[in-house]
Amino acid sequence: MDAQHGQVQHELVMPERERILGVPVDVTDMETTIAGIVAAVEDHRDGARPWNAPHLVVTLNPEMVIRAQNHAAFRAILEDAAVVIPDGVGVVHALRKRGHHEAVRVTGADLVTAYLPIAALHEHRVAFVGAGPGVAGKAADRAREIAPGIQIVAADSGHPTKETAERLAKYAPEVVFAAYGAGKQEEFLHRFLPLMDAPVGVGVGGTFDYLAGVVHRAPDIVQRIGCEWAWRLLLQPWRIGRQRALPEFYLRELHERRGG
Ligand code: UDP
Repeated sequence: MDAQHGQVQHELVMPERERILGVPVDVTDMETTIAGIVAAVEDHRDGARPWNAPHLVVTLNPEMVIRAQNHAAFRAILEDAAVVIPDGVGVVHALRKRGHHEAVRVTGADLVTAYLPIAALHEHRVAFVGAGPGVAGKAADRAREIAPGIQIVAADSGHPTKETAERLAKYAPEVVFAAYGAGKQEEFLHRFLPLMDAPVGVGVGGTFDYLAGVVHRAPDIVQRIGCEWAWRLLLQPWRIGRQRALPEFYLRELHERRGG
């Protein structure tokens, strides 16, 4: 990205793809991820080729890696994704232990915030879908403050169903951010991006909650020391069930690296 002019260069770098417990993950960064989104929208606008492969961006965390061990359908969606970005700190640690010392976290929340001004610049048609009642709307209002002029063509709290996708399709979105929690949001996008004729979909987890101010994101220092998961647990203790996957991830990942 040319920071001075806010332009995204379209020379695409293909990030290296690694595997953790059989799950694909790309050693990439924010700039490359956003450049990929912009390029996919451009391709769609150009109609350069039949559009049958939307650009699905998955924000991967250790819970999702464990989920993929037990759900073949979810594993298949991850295989189909255009980009799998390392969102969770556990995923980044695993990449570094495998020799990718340059690996960094690229979270869904940071991606959305960094992308908003780019979306405004390129006049992308953006849709927010999912989260609790009214949250997508509030998040869209905040996004319009962050990036004046951005075209958020739909903000819909609907469930991850065909009806929701059909409703969104009427607004011809180009980039759909979906917040239905890990698994559901990727299933929704994988299934319905073609119906919406949307070139890009990104599963963004709790991002709308942060943008809307419904949930406070961990302070920078907590993020930097790799403890955002603990902050989330503190704020939302019901996460304990889901976070049981974390020790399982660390043990299985270590076992895999040791050739087990
Ligand atoms: N969510 C939803 N329907 C569901 C589960 C979750 O709309 O069945 C929303 C939830 O309100 C939140 C977002 O999805 O706004 C992300 O959920 P969560 O924080 O559990 O996802 P994570 O970030 O842990 O993947």
